[in-house]
Amino acid sequence: MQGDRQRVAVVGGGIAGLAAAYELRVQAREQGLPLAVDLFESSARLGGAILTEREGDYVLDAGPDAILTLKPWALEFCRELGLDDEIIPTRDEHRGVALFSRGRLRSLPYGTGSSAVRKIKAYLGSGVVSWPAKLRMAADLLLPRGEARDDESMADFFGRRLGREAVERIVDPLIAGIYSGDPDRLSIYSTFPRFPQIVAKRRSILLSLLRAPQSARSGSRTLPIFCSLRDGLGRLVERVTDHLEGASLHLNTPVIAVERSRGRYALITSQGQRNEYSAVILAAPTWVAARLLESLAPEAARRMRRVRYVSSATVFFAYRRSDLGTPPQGYGFLVPTCEGRRVNGATWITNKFNHRSPEEGFLARCFIGGDRTGEQLDADDECLVDICKDELREIAGIAAQPLFSRVYRWRESGPQYDVGHAKLITSIDEELASLPGLHVTGSGYRGIGIPDCVYDGRQTARRALERLAVESARS
Ligand SMILES: Cc1cc2nc3c(=O)[nH]c(=O)nc-3n(C[C@H](O)[C@H](O)[C@H](O)COP(=O)(O)OP(=O)(O)OC[C@H]3O[C@@H](n4cnc5c(N)ncnc54)[C@H](O)[C@@H]3O)c2cc1C
Repeated sequence: MQGDRQRVAVVGGGIAGLAAAYELRVQAREQGLPLAVDLFESSARLGGAILTEREGDYVLDAGPDAILTLKPWALEFCRELGLDDEIIPTRDEHRGVALFSRGRLRSLPYGTGSSAVRKIKAYLGSGVVSWPAKLRMAADLLLPRGEARDDESMADFFGRRLGREAVERIVDPLIAGIYSGDPDRLSIYSTFPRFPQIVAKRRSILLSLLRAPQSARSGSRTLPIFCSLRDGLGRLVERVTDHLEGASLHLNTPVIAVERSRGRYALITSQGQRNEYSAVILAAPTWVAARLLESLAPEAARRMRRVRYVSSATVFFAYRRSDLGTPPQGYGFLVPTCEGRRVNGATWITNKFNHRSPEEGFLARCFIGGDRTGEQLDADDECLVDICKDELREIAGIAAQPLFSRVYRWRESGPQYDVGHAKLITSIDEELASLPGLHVTGSGYRGIGIPDCVYDGRQTARRALERLAVESARS
């Protein structure tokens, strides 16, 4: 890739697009490539779903609040960006999560120590499911592997291994906490491929879970399964942006179409600008990418539209600690759909991470929406606050008046990996193969968590550069 400066565009300034732009800059620098990078973001800020706001000494992570350490790519990225000293673990002393099941909060056997016997005892005593359901779950220890399947729903997979009640009272709320989704529709292979692998290799899910690590090695440290950054995950966005020197960042600039002529791509922005690029990385939600590719790749666009998205909201409450009497225990609670409540769960942020509230304060956040409580989102902010207050009072006994509350809405921002998702994405990739130089990344495709988005964004950037190198060697 000598001579003329190549131009690459990234559409979407969420973490996937930022990671892609970062990787383009790093590779260009390391390989001495004459590369220009333009990043287009429709809104007024970078970060997409990652947003940290401050209210006095309270730190509000409005979207994601934790990074999974078992997938190392996000933490590695933080280190590369010089954020090592800012990585904070979850607070071990409050470890634990509760399920609202059969009328009250019940502690799940999370973090009850590494001994399998202690875990089993804690589980049996939790009362999350009935005794017949516990016996049905124990069948997993004996059930044969069964036939390997192409794909199936989480409900079918876990129902077969653990029984329907376990699906309704354990799998469903845990899934809602991650995907805001419905286990009857979500694909086990695209959400938790580890479980079918466990069954294929070791047969029993329960035995594997009992042996599962409660921490991960990361660099020179052992970290719990979730971490964050001292001043909120928005720091990740700030630091990546700091490292994008040389790239042109275009905020408030929605891209409205992608065209192609003579092997190059033209991006049209809503302001009517038309810029040409050798390669384009679309890092916006799939329903946006579908709109942009409507004329250029109608079949790929049609398939992209099949990736379903749900909306959600996070509602924060800051309390004076002394108003709470005994502050809630653990990291928070999750609610199974079958309980018919109006929130999916709540996180006791102050218990989960240090540096989130002043000494005398307590920060909580409720989670509403997704496949199960999505209809609540039609209500205005005041109404959402009232719904959450009622639920916190009835479920967790919190009757105190908050010092302040905040509502953050996440419209059409939660992709749902329904049964058949992996095949759908492969078929989109196949369709796009006829458009060399056009790439897609982001949470709609190959993983929704921050680690997956970082990994896929960077890999996509590398693929884009490799192709440009081949092109320029040919010409
Ligand atoms: C409430 C919530 C809680 C979550 N909790 C966690 C968690 O704790 N841990 C975790 O790992 N993950 C969590 N996630 C998931 C994770 O945050 C997201 O999957 C990830 O941040 C998505 O990144 P992305 O870059 O793919 O997409 P996005 O963040 O959605 O970014 C896409 C960007 O594209 C821009 N865009 C859209 N259209 C255009 C256009 N036409 N032109 C230009 N730009 C455009 C958008 O404005 C946006 O900035 C959570 C998500 C939400 C919503």
